[in-house]
Amino acid sequence: MLWKIRSGGDNIDAGFAAGTRIMKGRLTMNVKTWKSDAVTIEVDYDKCTGHAMCVDQCPGEVYELTGGKAVAAYIDQCIECCTCVAVCPEEAIVHSSCE
Ligand code: SF4
Ligand code: SF4
Repeated sequence: MLWKIRSGGDNIDAGFAAGTRIMKGRLTMNVKTWKSDAVTIEVDYDKCTGHAMCVDQCPGEVYELTGGKAVAAYIDQCIECCTCVAVCPEEAIVHSSCE
């Protein structure tokens, strides 16, 4: 897919690979996405360091660590409290209810 990105007054054409997103104004190449009927959670695996703050503090027990990265395996249990977004020191999580 071809996107036009506006940067410093110039338009830049960029071919986007699968998983590429613009998160918090930054291009990233390795974003994982989970969806439920209610919410969407994205974790930027280029940022995620796997120290599990989200796993430990999510009251819905949505996250688990797989291969050292956060996985929103139980997204249906999300109560939309935004704790995961708040506690992630790497700002790796984007949540549709917490923008
Ligand atoms: S708190 Fe952030 S950096 Fe840490 S495991 Fe979760 S998503 Fe990754
Ligand atoms: S919004 Fe709350 S319940 Fe949902 S995944 Fe984040 S910490 Fe867990």
